[in-house]
Parts: sequence; C-alpha cells; structure tokens
Amino acid sequence: NSDLILYVNLELVNKKSDRRYIVEEMLGQGTFGQVAKCWDAETNSYVAVKVIKNQPAFYQQAIMEVSLLSMLNDKFDPDDQHHIVRMLDFFPWKNHLCITFEMLGHNLYELLKKNNLRGLQLQFVRTFSRQILDALIVMKGAGIIHCDLKPENILITPKVNSAAGVKVIDFGSACMEGKTIYSYIQSRYYRSPEVLLGYPYTTAIDMWSFGCIVAELYIGLPLFPGASEYDVLSRMIEMVGGQPPDDLLREAKNTRKFFKHAGSIYPGNEAHDGLRSSYRILTEDEVEARDSKKPKIGKWYFPRGRLDRLIFSYPWKNLNEEAEKEDCLALVDFLRGLVEFDPNKRWSPLQLH
Ligand code: ATP
Ligand code: MG
Ligand code: MG
Repeated sequence: NSDLILYVNLELVNKKSDRRYIVEEMLGQGTFGQVAKCWDAETNSYVAVKVIKNQPAFYQQAIMEVSLLSMLNDKFDPDDQHHIVRMLDFFPWKNHLCITFEMLGHNLYELLKKNNLRGLQLQFVRTFSRQILDALIVMKGAGIIHCDLKPENILITPKVNSAAGVKVIDFGSACMEGKTIYSYIQSRYYRSPEVLLGYPYTTAIDMWSFGCIVAELYIGLPLFPGASEYDVLSRMIEMVGGQPPDDLLREAKNTRKFFKHAGSIYPGNEAHDGLRSSYRILTEDEVEARDSKKPKIGKWYFPRGRLDRLIFSYPWKNLNEEAEKEDCLALVDFLRGLVEFDPNKRWSPLQLH
C-alpha cells in the first residue's frame, strides 16, 4: 500500500539545497519505510537515508522523529559523546519524507545472528550496556521516551581505534514524557508490563526494554519471546517471580485480558515469591477458552524458568573461572533491577550512572 520502490543508482534529491544522494544498497526495511545506504556526492561519504512511507500517519510520526532527534543531537549531545545516532539532513522527496543519518554498521540482532545466537562475551555485553545506558541517561534528561528499544534499533559504530561501540537509532516511535499519545507501543518481546496492561507509562518502559536487551546480548536469544501478549506476560512472571503490584493491576485498562480478580487477597500464589495479591494470572486453558482462535503458546527456544538459573546454566558459556561466576551474579543482580514489574521500583538510568 505504498508506492515506495528504491533501486540502486536512484537519486534522492533535496530540492532545497540541491544535495544529491545516490542509492547504493538497501540496509533495512521497517514499518515506517526503507533505509538505504547512499553516496553523498557533496561530502564524498556514505550516509543512511530513511525514506518514510507516504501516508499521513507515518509522516506525522517522522516529523516527531526529526524534531526529537534534532533536539537530542543539538541540545543534549552537541559533542556526539552519548551514543545516539546523528541526524544530518531531512527533506521531502516525491511525497516521501527522507531523513539522512550518519552511516553505522550492523544492528545488534544481526550481530547475535552472526554469532549463531549464542550470545556475546561478557566484556562486550558490559561495554554495549554501558553505552546504551549513557544514551538512556541523556534521553531521560531530555524527557524523551524511545518506546522501541530492541536489538534491531541498536547499531554497531564503525571502528574507531578498533574499540567496539554502539549507538541507539530509530526515534520513529519516540515521544515526550507526559505527552504520551499511543498505547500500542514497543516491540512485543521488549514490551514493558505497564504497556501490556495499559497503564500510564514513563521513561521507565525503556529501562524494561534495556534489561531485556542486556539479557539477550548475554544469552543470544530474547528473554521473553512470547507468541502473544499473554505469553510474554506469563513468561515474565515465571522468569522474574512476582507480578505487577495490585494498585497497578487495579487501575490498568487491560488487566482483565490477563488476570482474574481472585478475592480480596489471593492466597497460595506459589509462583509469586509469597506475594499476596488480589489477582492471579489466567491459566493457559482459561485464555484458550476465551480466545476462539486459540493462540498456540510457543514453547520455543530455551526452557522457561528463573532468571538466575538461565544466566548461570546457559550451555554456551564456560563458567570455569571463579571471576566469571561472580560476573554472572552481578549480571543477574543488574537484570533484576531492570526487569522489575513495578515501574516506580525499577532502576532509573540515573541510579545506575
Ligand atoms: P521499525 O520497524 O523498527 O520501526 P524503522 O522503519 O523505524 O524500523 P529504522 O529502525 O530506523 O526503521 O531502520 C531500519 C533498519 O535499517 C535498522 O534496523 C538498521 O538495520 C538499518 N539502519 C537504520 N539506520 C541506519 C544507519 N544510520 N546506518 C546503518 N544502518 C541503518
Ligand atoms: Mg527500527
Ligand atoms: Mg521505528
């Protein structure tokens, strides 16, 4: 439903400045449009050009991407030190809005795939996590929620002095804190409990996604690869132990999609670390009975289970060294602060600084 066809050698021209970008290859395709590696004949360098689909809703969101990213770049990170992609130019082209960015490398999902989905060495997990956190601190300071943090939206930076690095990209779903418009945000595996449940959200939702990403970098596979929203939520409860706090469940719009009100206090909630709650999550049978389409609940990838067990017993890791075990302990601790159901208790980027 879009007339967008980009082919090699096609020229994208910024009519205002008469600047030309020649398409060399396609880098990616997303919901919002296509991203092409282009030759900028004026600077004799490569740039990445995102050509947005020519539909009003996408155009509006792209304008948001341009305005939030230029604010982040110019006002909050003028010296390009905080691991946020640089925007270079934007212009209309045949009814499409085009945004040009500095050319970066592969995204982290591609990197994990290259590594046969066995996860990265802890040293890289640490370096990349620090850099993503640095970007999150700046976003928090600017009051910007990214709303779509995931490995596909974190790109390797070209090697400078051969030091590995990453940058956060894709502010196409971002918004200002306190001015949230959409309720259907974040990619499913990285979707925070408050968004799943339809509860007002803050920059804390990015910290949830961040936790999911850090775990995935280490284990090589998504932490909550749910085939449905219910599946994601039940995986969270199993993996982390506990569940969203009662006051959140009471006020959230979608609680009834996932939970049953089970009396004033529902006892014997074994899965929940002795937490006494008025709610319990629906059973799979209850969900299947309700949904005529019977979503096949995926049991793929690794066995479901507890976070600490997952991190420690992951088969591809070789935890011979005492130091490695200690690192794992620290990693589990770190992740627990991020994949925390209660957005008010979840670690904020400033706490982690
Ligand atoms: P989504 O479906 O996640 O919303 P999108 O349509 O908003 O995607 P982007 O995430 O901005 O588009 O870009 C899509 C893909 O293109 C990225 O995952 C990445 O692989 C590639 N890409 C984007 N920007 C760059 C860049 N500056 N340098 C290199 N590759 C890029
Ligand atoms: Mg993207
Ligand atoms: Mg996007």
